Amino acid sequence: MMNILVTGGSGMVGSILKHYLSYNESIDNYNFISSNDYDLTDMTQVENCFKERKYDKIIHLAAVVGGLYKNMNNNSLMLMKNLKINANIIEACHKYNVNRGIFCLSSCIYPKNPSKFPMTEEQLCESEPHESNQGYAYAKRMLYVLCEQYNKDYGREYICVAPVNLYGMHDNFNIEDGHVIPGLIHRMFKTKNQIDPYNKETFEVYGTGTARRQFLFAPNFCNIILQLLYNLNIKGGIYNICDDNEYTIKEIVSLISKIMNYDERKIVYNNNYSDGIIKKTVSNEKLKKTVPNTNFTDIETGLLMTYEWFLKNQEIIRK
Ligand code: NAP
Ligand code: GDP
Repeated sequence: MMNILVTGGSGMVGSILKHYLSYNESIDNYNFISSNDYDLTDMTQVENCFKERKYDKIIHLAAVVGGLYKNMNNNSLMLMKNLKINANIIEACHKYNVNRGIFCLSSCIYPKNPSKFPMTEEQLCESEPHESNQGYAYAKRMLYVLCEQYNKDYGREYICVAPVNLYGMHDNFNIEDGHVIPGLIHRMFKTKNQIDPYNKETFEVYGTGTARRQFLFAPNFCNIILQLLYNLNIKGGIYNICDDNEYTIKEIVSLISKIMNYDERKIVYNNNYSDGIIKKTVSNEKLKKTVPNTNFTDIETGLLMTYEWFLKNQEIIRK
């Protein structure tokens, strides 16, 4: 039995992974940690974590994460905190001989003006990321560079995954900080239930609704992480993680309003908000060649499950 450390264990992906492993018995022993256990920006605390138990593998999910508007308003903080977390984790993994792991990037760190769509893994650093999230993006790109260098210099097996926009149970439903799907669900819920004191009988979507995004139900991502971790033929590199679909924000708004039974005629678009990057489509060709079981949940089912979870878990939701 191996010991596997999961950082970011209290976040959306970490919580879903924990839930999954509690129902599907693993041959290994997983330890999920959050910032309450160790502040990973602080190397002394990181060392304490790695001294406490000998780990064989790691799934590194911890990061300062947010939707477009959190990123736009906090670029320097996202850069500094994520750089520290990632450098500390790689240094500790090497020092305490954690030979193999999955390290989480994101499709939003890809170039803003790529040479072609859909973007394949080798395009990651071909030019600069979109200005809205350069802090987060450069910190994640350096995580990739660190992994590749340690693989090259010390024979480590540090594998990077770049998922598209994730959504699902345990998401961050905070309106200012969260991503588009939890943000829309939470705001539409408030409008529908007249909780919003500024409710003008309309529902306002931020931006024009024309930006395109790929979405992945977070449980599908957890399943793929485990397949990559246990496939010992894979020893490094990046894997984009997504299905074959892409949607405009308008299409997502329409799907959510149907699930929430909200009258679409009351929906308006506020062009004063930024759309962020208009398109950032990545390719899943490499993933499909490598991971045999990529069963993806369709967006209607994923959104419904997320909304039902949101309704049932009002007490514990991050918002
Ligand atoms: P999340 O829900 O925001 O969770 C973030 C996790 O990181 C939490 O467990 C948090 O701990 C932990 N963390 C943050 N700062 C920390 C610190 N200083 N020390 C220790 N732990 C810290 O994020 P997520 O959505 O699950 O994302 C998981 C991974 O996927 C991240 O690497 C993210 O960049 C990547 N990703 C996410 C998306 C998305 O749409 N959500 C898309 C692409 C990639 P606390 O709960 O204690 O604060
Ligand atoms: P991104 O994919 O990194 O840009 O992050 P998001 O998940 O925050 O998606 C941002 C896109 O959704 C932009 O085009 C926004 O204009 C649009 N959007 C529409 N309404 C909302 C909302 O309530 N919250 C957020 N975060 N984005 C919204």
